[in-house]
Amino acid sequence: MTKIRELKTYFSDLKRLSYVYNLLNWDQRVYMPEGSNEGRSEIIAYISKLRHKRLISDKTKRLIKEAEKVDDLDLIDDAILREAKREYEKAVRVPPELVEELAKNATLSHNGWKKAREKNDFSLFEPWLTKMIDLQKKYADYIDMYPNRYDNLLDEYEPGATSDWLTNLFVSLKPKLSTILNKLMDSEDQPNRSILAKSYSPEKQWAFCRDIIKKLNFDFQIGRLDKSVHPFTISIASTDVRITSRIIEKFLPSCIFGTIHECGHALYEMGLMNEIHSTNLASGCSMGIHESQSRLWENIIGRSKEFWDFWYPKLQKYFPENLRDFPASEFYRAINKVEPSTIRVEADELTYSLHIILRFELEKLIFADKIEVNELPQLWNQKMEELLFLSPNNDAEGILQDVHWSGGAFGYFPSYALGNLYASQIYSTAQKEISGLSTHLSQGNYKPLLDYLRKNIHQFGKIYPPRELIKRVSGEKLNSRYFLEHLKDKFYPMYNIN
Ligand code: ZN
Repeated sequence: MTKIRELKTYFSDLKRLSYVYNLLNWDQRVYMPEGSNEGRSEIIAYISKLRHKRLISDKTKRLIKEAEKVDDLDLIDDAILREAKREYEKAVRVPPELVEELAKNATLSHNGWKKAREKNDFSLFEPWLTKMIDLQKKYADYIDMYPNRYDNLLDEYEPGATSDWLTNLFVSLKPKLSTILNKLMDSEDQPNRSILAKSYSPEKQWAFCRDIIKKLNFDFQIGRLDKSVHPFTISIASTDVRITSRIIEKFLPSCIFGTIHECGHALYEMGLMNEIHSTNLASGCSMGIHESQSRLWENIIGRSKEFWDFWYPKLQKYFPENLRDFPASEFYRAINKVEPSTIRVEADELTYSLHIILRFELEKLIFADKIEVNELPQLWNQKMEELLFLSPNNDAEGILQDVHWSGGAFGYFPSYALGNLYASQIYSTAQKEISGLSTHLSQGNYKPLLDYLRKNIHQFGKIYPPRELIKRVSGEKLNSRYFLEHLKDKFYPMYNIN
């Protein structure tokens, strides 16, 4: 038993190094003076190197070997060993020179991407994208846990996910989303969003969003809400979970839904059972499951009628000049309007997944060596036309819009679409198991739902892998049925479609 305890402590120390890294990172993105960037990046790189060195050390290998000899590990210890092995075995396969090259080039490539996007000139990013793809191919080939190269990257974000599995999910999803989208677009009863683009005082928006997340049970005793250019959630311990959001004065939904989204991530991190605090199990079980929690609160709850039954009168009090005479029913339609756009982050609940399918299809081609980098912008635009009937005005609105590829995060995008599917499947079970859920929600009582999520998902952290978790929660494998039902149930009545 002491053998597993030793391994547990060793990995807890590695976790603490990650928390140091996270704190430096949070400060860099929230408070640090701009001119301090270079010095800070050096410290962050050093911590990262230190952690990596310890991870791939002989000591790690020995501790894992010894722990493997222990019989009768309990659920938690067994998962600690599984995760330790998973992380170690991946890390030792990759030569340290490649790790360093990846980190170094990610920063340079990020700058290249920023410049290209500002100047709307793909050719400025092309050499960097080529480099990042090349390095990620090498990385995937070193990992070599799956015969299909791309699967090695997908597994980083969604353990066990393969491109065949995702292709199956998306192949059936794509035409069904298109059918729903076409019906909505053909409806003559289109919501009007102009009310959302009036001027809303930033201070009041911020205060309103704080009210909301307080009510959603975000614990300010162990959490913070700050401002940053791109909203994010980060843990500095299981008892220190921080989120950020942003305010756009003339677009009300940005702050409200961005804050609820990050709050959903934070509730997950705040809900881990004490026994796994600061262990290697102390975080979400996969990016897809994490994203399911943010999207459940943002879209399924935050954009529901029940939610606004409770919050709209309060919002009217905050902004009487805009909303005093504006009906709640129209506000609900405005925040839910479905409209194809070229930009992923602005996409609605329905078209969002189509943006992801586009990126997934391109990544598959890239890692199967079926496409050259210079062909990507053209193919991006062509797919956009197919899926969303739009073609970007320029590359800044097309292939240059996302940050992910510049940092080498290939295989990450599918998590967003998986999040939508997981969220609907989980919520459908919650509805069956929580009596009077809809009434609770319209009274602003989120405790029953949060308790349900804590009991079935949050507390476990990484104890169960994602596929096992979804089966335990819902009794079946992940599928797109619940998401499609959710979309139809919500949007057909809203658009007067029978
Ligand atoms: Zn998210």
